[in-house]
Amino acid sequence: DLFYRQLPKVELHAHLNGSVSFETMETLIKRKPHLIEHRMTAILSGQRRALHECFQVFKVIHQLVDSEEDILMVAKAVIQEFAADGVKYLELRSTPREVTETGLTKQRYIETIRQCKREEVDIDVRFLVAVDRRHGPEVAMDTVKLAEDFLLSSDGIVVGLDLSGDPTEISISLILQVGHGKYLLSALEKAKNCGLKLALHLSEVRAHGNVCKQNIPIEMCLTSNVKGQTRGHPCVLCTDDKGVFCTDLSQEYQLAASTFGLTQETLWMLSQQSIGYTFAPEPIKQRLEKKWVELKQQIL
Ligand code: IMP
Repeated sequence: DLFYRQLPKVELHAHLNGSVSFETMETLIKRKPHLIEHRMTAILSGQRRALHECFQVFKVIHQLVDSEEDILMVAKAVIQEFAADGVKYLELRSTPREVTETGLTKQRYIETIRQCKREEVDIDVRFLVAVDRRHGPEVAMDTVKLAEDFLLSSDGIVVGLDLSGDPTEISISLILQVGHGKYLLSALEKAKNCGLKLALHLSEVRAHGNVCKQNIPIEMCLTSNVKGQTRGHPCVLCTDDKGVFCTDLSQEYQLAASTFGLTQETLWMLSQQSIGYTFAPEPIKQRLEKKWVELKQQIL
């Protein structure tokens, strides 16, 4: 529907490799046909997969995207697709990888993403360097140092740190005592102290956290909270992995609208409020606010 696409949007939660579209995936597969496991790569609408199966998909994608050239192509395409979907501000997150065979280093990984901003598209892109919690505290600390270098040296593209990674594998990491939050705290603290904003994945699966252990109910008053903004609690719609889940941000807004009976005015408010929750510096937020006001006159 045109309105949802035209609605200017803010995307704050998108993993680069999970956002790779079906079309880009086809191009990658043509380049590396020996790796075909194509049916694995996208969860078509209506299909469901268990969480650990989603993480199998990432393994396939990581095999397909393993050089600077691949990363550049994928990042440019993802940015282009978000822009075409009406996203005006995008925070991309991705886990820097090292691949000996192709000469890819973690530093070049970040550098490549940093470079792929395209002047001709109307979208502001920022980057969160991701730490895969399964890799343990040492890798986490190295990644934080790398992110810090970029934060200090660069043009404001690197703004924060993400903590993610397959939560279903955490129990194995726990036995090895590497992936548990408490072992990663010093890395996170360092990140915070040097000015990196933090975005953490927490309590995604049943086995973890006090909420589950003590059976504390999560109170959800969907209509009341979304429509009435009861507690004014921040709420930002995001895609997570638009490629893997075959969605886009317009579709997520449409889903929220049809589920909760939201008006176009409320949707506009929802997307405009997201500006306040970005990791962007104040002048950028003001520029976005201005854009929303201008566009509102044209679209609503
Ligand atoms: P990448 O960091 O750009 O390679 O994007 C894929 C990676 O994002 C996965 O391997 C996970 O580490 C992370 N990821 C994507 N979706 C989720 C999620 O729902 N929970 C936790 N981690 C995730």
